[in-house]
Amino acid sequence: MKRPPGRRGRKRGGYIKLLTLTLLMAGFVYIVFIALTQPERLIPGDAPAFAEAGVQEAGGSEGGAAETDAAGAPDGAVNAPEPGSGTPDLSGGGADLFLEGEAVGVENIFTQFAYYEPDKLRSYENFQSRRSELDAGEVVWMVNAGLDGAFYENAEVVSGGNPLLINPYHRLPEDFVPEELAYIDESGRQATPETVEAFYRLRDAARGEGYDLAVQSAYRTLDYQRGLYERESGDGAVARPAYSEHHTGRALDLWGPDGLLDESGPTPTGQWVARHAHEFGFIVRYTAENQAVTGYIYEPWHITYVGTAIAGEMRSGGYGSLEEYVAKNPQAGLTQ
Ligand SMILES: [Zn+2]
Repeated sequence: MKRPPGRRGRKRGGYIKLLTLTLLMAGFVYIVFIALTQPERLIPGDAPAFAEAGVQEAGGSEGGAAETDAAGAPDGAVNAPEPGSGTPDLSGGGADLFLEGEAVGVENIFTQFAYYEPDKLRSYENFQSRRSELDAGEVVWMVNAGLDGAFYENAEVVSGGNPLLINPYHRLPEDFVPEELAYIDESGRQATPETVEAFYRLRDAARGEGYDLAVQSAYRTLDYQRGLYERESGDGAVARPAYSEHHTGRALDLWGPDGLLDESGPTPTGQWVARHAHEFGFIVRYTAENQAVTGYIYEPWHITYVGTAIAGEMRSGGYGSLEEYVAKNPQAGLTQ
């Protein structure tokens, strides 16, 4: 009857091992089941493996944080009461990354805008992470306008169409000359015929209310701008050659009662121009409000002819800049 204790002990040990193994397998199966069906349950506590995997997958380069946040923040996006006013939750850590497969709401933040361009999604996400004060609509049009890039790098070459948007992201060909130019009175200055006619109407209307306007600068050749730019030693108030609106023949610098219009502060003449320019097809191109967008200092004297339709639309639509107008109305865009 007496069995060798060693054997009995081995048998009992075998049961314990089997039981332990069974429990471990059951636990493993349970964890796998939870991972597949309710992954969020694994996140807050102790599942660093998942979160880390997500971080490694999505991060690793400059802007990686933005990409991963935008791709992996469905909670903030889906639950946001007003997608238009919300921004993606950028505070989320690696935990959110695990939910990447469910990230359906993030795109909606941008896609609600008519001027959304699907191939720019990554750029929208990156720009928003850098400029968290912007709402989603601003992010979309600003990226469309190229504002997420550096000045003078990879500028698009444009030469026609209306409006003809020239700025640090859009330049003219080196040999650009307007198709047609006309003289402004006997001044020797030139602009496109439409611009000259519109200026006459603007000037006459101003004169009718007691304000005198003249043109101080209009069309400039690229060579002239080259000299101007070199004299002014670099970027600032003077545009780089090929980047100046004055090459288009559609931009005018106005003289007011004391020299360049409102250069030394607001005057009734300058205020009249700011109020009425759109009625004659002009916009005040560089305002105090749009400096960050245009890259130019406030130039109350510099007006640009875009035609009464666009100038009126910009006025009534509350567009802050020609950049914003073109970005939001791609059909009014650029001719290459
Ligand atoms: Zn000017």
